Amino acid sequence: MQISLDGAIEMYRGGFIYVITGSMFAGKTGKLIRNLRRIEIRNEFSEDKKKIVLFKPQKDDRHKTSEVISHNDYKFEAEVVPDVETIAAWVSKNKPDIVAIDEAQFFKVPKLLTLLIELANQGKVIILTVLDQDFACRPFEGVPELLAEAEIVEKLHPICVGCGKRASRTFRLSDSKELIQVGGKEDYTALCRACRNDRS
Ligand SMILES: [Zn+2]
Repeated sequence: MQISLDGAIEMYRGGFIYVITGSMFAGKTGKLIRNLRRIEIRNEFSEDKKKIVLFKPQKDDRHKTSEVISHNDYKFEAEVVPDVETIAAWVSKNKPDIVAIDEAQFFKVPKLLTLLIELANQGKVIILTVLDQDFACRPFEGVPELLAEAEIVEKLHPICVGCGKRASRTFRLSDSKELIQVGGKEDYTALCRACRNDRS
């Protein structure tokens, strides 16, 4: 059976952490949004309505507090936040049942993990997307610990642009030395292990 957040809520007694990981272009955000949509539909039929918040990292200096993330025709409003402290303050004030985070690698993951463990221990449901490796195939700091802590780890794979099989690596086309570069399809592509090794 496919992994889903509504199913997991029935499966666990208290809080838990569900991580959607993989390389770029694996469809992680789409999977996150589909899961949140399922909870919204579930809420329409359930007495036990779950209050959801979705956080997105603020990646530049533009001041905005919310942004809409869409997938197919479904749109979900996200709180754009600069750091882990802001997430902690927001959750403490607004008391959501489900805390969703997109692109968690843009936050300080070790610090984020400390908060997420605290929230899950309080009974909150955590769902997030995170890149597992950087462009040099190194795990992002704190991500191995996050995967070890999570109840559910779902690893998604896009198609390798080198051979058409399953990809597992983010390959950087540009030559910037910055570890985290805000980029899209023009800067990165997805490759499998064998095709990635051919290019190094
Ligand atoms: Zn390949």
